[in-house]
Amino acid sequence: MTGGGEHDKCQKQSGHSHAASFGFDTRAIHHAFSPVDFKRAVQPPVFLTSTYGFESVEANDAAAALGGRLYAREYNPTTEILEQRLANLEGAEAGLVVSTGMAAFGTLILSLLSQGDELVVHKTLYSNTVAMVEQGLPRFGIKVVPVDLSDPSNLDTAITEKTKLVYFETPVNPLSSILDISAISERAHARGVKVAVDSTFASPALQRPIEHGADIVLHSLTKYINGHGDTLGGALLGDAETLHRLHETGLRYITGATLAPHSAFLIMRGLKTLSLRMDRHSASALAIARMLEAHPAVSWVSYPFLESHPGQAIARKQMTQGSGMLAFGLHAGFAGARNMLDHLQLMTRAVSLGDTDTLIYHPASITRARQSIRKDAHMISGVGDDLIRLSVGLEDVDDLIGDLQQALATL
Ligand code: PLP
Repeated sequence: MTGGGEHDKCQKQSGHSHAASFGFDTRAIHHAFSPVDFKRAVQPPVFLTSTYGFESVEANDAAAALGGRLYAREYNPTTEILEQRLANLEGAEAGLVVSTGMAAFGTLILSLLSQGDELVVHKTLYSNTVAMVEQGLPRFGIKVVPVDLSDPSNLDTAITEKTKLVYFETPVNPLSSILDISAISERAHARGVKVAVDSTFASPALQRPIEHGADIVLHSLTKYINGHGDTLGGALLGDAETLHRLHETGLRYITGATLAPHSAFLIMRGLKTLSLRMDRHSASALAIARMLEAHPAVSWVSYPFLESHPGQAIARKQMTQGSGMLAFGLHAGFAGARNMLDHLQLMTRAVSLGDTDTLIYHPASITRARQSIRKDAHMISGVGDDLIRLSVGLEDVDDLIGDLQQALATL
């Protein structure tokens, strides 16, 4: 994690960490790394080691006192570059990367909340975050209070003296609805409660929640930040004191969910092209959203930068572009969605998002299929059984539009 240590001193002398003076893309490529610190390798080396050797007991003690650079569960030079770079891009003091986005959520909640504490969440969240808050956390005596944060005044009754954190996504998975980061943060802070935002759908290229008053940002690095669909990862970014706690408790002994250094390397490679990719994802998604909105078989479309989106003004305030995620429904409903997906010839039917490849999925079909193995699987609040989620990739937009049009024509 960032903050202190011999390595940070090296970074400051190396000439590549003048954070404020360089633009976003320059920092996405160079921040916290200089070839002179790593045998002149231009790309970050992947340190495959489980532990670190010391020249004396005294040196070993000194490393332990710096926060445990003794063992690769809690420290690796490759992942540390990624942590410093992501923290810088989000405007955070410090960062922590872990093995998946769900590991980031577990690390966050299990480090900051204890039995008897309360967590306020928006009523719609990524499905496995819902499983964690509905089934996981109550087993440990943490009370979860779901509210509709599209009206931030709902926080006034939801927050009690036991509330430790307010948590939400924006844009919200899978609805692509928008929550107002600054309005929610102001209300929570007025009651002394911290705010954590899952900004996975936007990435720091389009939205930086800390600039709008949030305290902590969570990312599934599996999605846009890596962007190539070939590894998993998660990140937490925020103030140095909180991140120290997440590192020292959450990663070290609660989850132990360390990111593999090779994954950190892949994610840094993806990060170098993040804003180029987000430009293309956003432009193509807007064109597709407009086409779908005008199509007679389509009953509704949710895309944050569409004029018809109820959160458009807030989206334009806190995001620079709309990203590549959209949701829509067909007049032919549940059956129509299944039929349409089966007729796609180019888009891939898959549940992830944020990749070069366009991915499309129908949550209601997956939920029904899961009920055979998990009786309590249910649709997420606010998600209808007609909803189709589309993660627009980097293919030629005309090919994507053509694929959707030919599939819709079969209805
Ligand atoms: N947050 C959001 C908004 C997601 O969409 C996902 C995964 O789909 C996660 C968190 C979890 O991330 P991971 O799959 O890397 O565990």
